[in-house]
Amino acid sequence: MDKHSSMILIDYTKCSPCSGLICVGVCPVGIIEQNENHKPVITDFSSCTKCGVCINLCPTKAIALNRKQENKEK
Ligand code: SF4
Ligand code: SF4
Repeated sequence: MDKHSSMILIDYTKCSPCSGLICVGVCPVGIIEQNENHKPVITDFSSCTKCGVCINLCPTKAIALNRKQENKEK
């Protein structure tokens, strides 16, 4: 298992989204942005440091570090 293939993923079935889009505000490298549907999207996976801040602060535990897979909004 290649651990470099892991990446952050947002589970849109769990993201309400929360008031203020916490993850958008907390990412230290600014790669989570709000899209036109007012949902958070990760704009640059290669810049993610996997710091875990967004994972820890999401109130609905909608963000996780997973193996690489599609990250499309459902
Ligand atoms: S793990 Fe850290 S760097 Fe990556 S998206 Fe979340 S807050 Fe940003
Ligand atoms: S912090 Fe969690 S619930 Fe809030 S916008 Fe981000 S993913 Fe959605």
